[in-house]
Amino acid sequence: MNIYKALIGEHWKESSSGRTISSSNPFNQEVWASIPSLTKEDVAEAVEAAHLAFHDWKKTNGLERATLMHRLADLIEAEADHLAQVETTDNGKLFKETKNQILFSARNYRYFAGYADKLLGDFIPMDNREMIDYTIMEPVGPVALITAWNSPLSLLANKLAPALATGNTVVIKPSEQASISTLEFAKLTIQAGFPSGVINVITGDGAAGDALIRHPLIAKVSFTGGSQTARAITKAVSDKLIPVTLELGGKSPNIIFADADLEDALTGAIAGIFGATGQTCIAGSRLLVERSIVEIVKERLIRKAATIQLGDPFDPATDMGPVANKLQLKKIVSMITEAKEEGAELLYGGELAKEAGLHGYFIKPTIFFTENPEINIACEEVFGPVLTIIPFNDPEEALSIANRSPYGLAAGIWTRDIKKAHRLAAEIEAGNVWINTYRASAAGAPFGGTKQSGYGRERSWHALYEYTHIKNVMVNLSTKKRDPFSMQTK
Ligand code: NAD
Repeated sequence: MNIYKALIGEHWKESSSGRTISSSNPFNQEVWASIPSLTKEDVAEAVEAAHLAFHDWKKTNGLERATLMHRLADLIEAEADHLAQVETTDNGKLFKETKNQILFSARNYRYFAGYADKLLGDFIPMDNREMIDYTIMEPVGPVALITAWNSPLSLLANKLAPALATGNTVVIKPSEQASISTLEFAKLTIQAGFPSGVINVITGDGAAGDALIRHPLIAKVSFTGGSQTARAITKAVSDKLIPVTLELGGKSPNIIFADADLEDALTGAIAGIFGATGQTCIAGSRLLVERSIVEIVKERLIRKAATIQLGDPFDPATDMGPVANKLQLKKIVSMITEAKEEGAELLYGGELAKEAGLHGYFIKPTIFFTENPEINIACEEVFGPVLTIIPFNDPEEALSIANRSPYGLAAGIWTRDIKKAHRLAAEIEAGNVWINTYRASAAGAPFGGTKQSGYGRERSWHALYEYTHIKNVMVNLSTKKRDPFSMQTK
């Protein structure tokens, strides 16, 4: 049993209540570690540490911050196997996927390190040549970074890299379901040489998160998680009027036209919904298929689903690991039951996988077909390996089904017709559109949602603006007298 502590300033802390939360391995259900369940007072201590550190950290120059961030990226790369091993033990995601994501997080720290000394302001030409005007990008102050359990270190990098590059201090709150890789990562931030209090990691359940966002010294919240929690957060901070970035769930349409390269499109459909056991916000959980090819798509997807290898997430031959926790498994099973009751046709799976050697939270890859895009399984996020195929007759109908969703996170378009692809990309209500690929990411490409999938952008230079405000400075060089009762506009 590994007993972990939270990082507050330079100290590793237990909860002052003595309470802990245990972590079980979703593959074999063994309890293997515990984290502290921090009290409101413990959380306040972390925020105060971040507040204190902000005073000096915001004044560091960009090169100093970039140097530390590159050092951190070096350490992440050197420790990628260890971090991935811990994360996979904690949330059951395939080791090969976790390691890939952790290496991608190092790429993101390097990307934003490159911006740390390039936070350029504007020099603004004025109508009056005796006035000058310029802008400064300033950090916003201690920021709360709250993450979900499905990809802890990768989600964290999306927030922490731009926050550090722009001179913010942070209090990180990983999910109580998978906090341990973040606590291991915290050790690397100390090794990299970040000053005490710049990066704090608190642990606990929703109550710890709530205490964090409500703290008067927290100046901004960046949250990745579910819509319901997002609503609670925005309500809780509404009195403080602080900015919030929200990265939430989705019900993303993956659209296959009859003129697509079908083999590529089917690979994209599988990657979209069965990759990471469907536990990704960008899961392509609605497969919209042109009617003329719907039968062949069904048949070939069923054949492909049958070859998906369920098993130990550490085994390189495994395609799909367990669902990350019991609560999530229960939710998936209940949504499958409801889909059957709603009249969706079950084409494959739809039950727990109980083959020899599978003792964890395993569910078979599941495929439904429906003519009715309004039923719940075609509208609500499952966050599991459950695909719903919906036919369409023409691009207009595909678009109308795609946009008939409260969510707007991602979409895929599979076609060889370049005009159709770009026309649709322009009309689809989603923050991220892939054409002839799915579930692809880049440090320089902005990521985020529209509608109930959230607001604000991560990755890319756009993310710098999530962690800064723009100060305008206007300077009068004139020696002329002014009329004090009239606003100076020239
Ligand atoms: P969740 O909303 O239950 O929890 C997310 C985090 O919020 C956890 O750390 C949790 O402890 C904390 N929290 C809970 N209540 C809180 C409160 N009142 N105040 C402050 N913090 C609180 O989400 P989850 O189950 O961990 O994650 C699954 C969801 O996350 C899915 O909907 C998924 O689509 C979404 N997600 C989105 C993205 C994205 O980038 N858009 C990425 C991954 C996951």
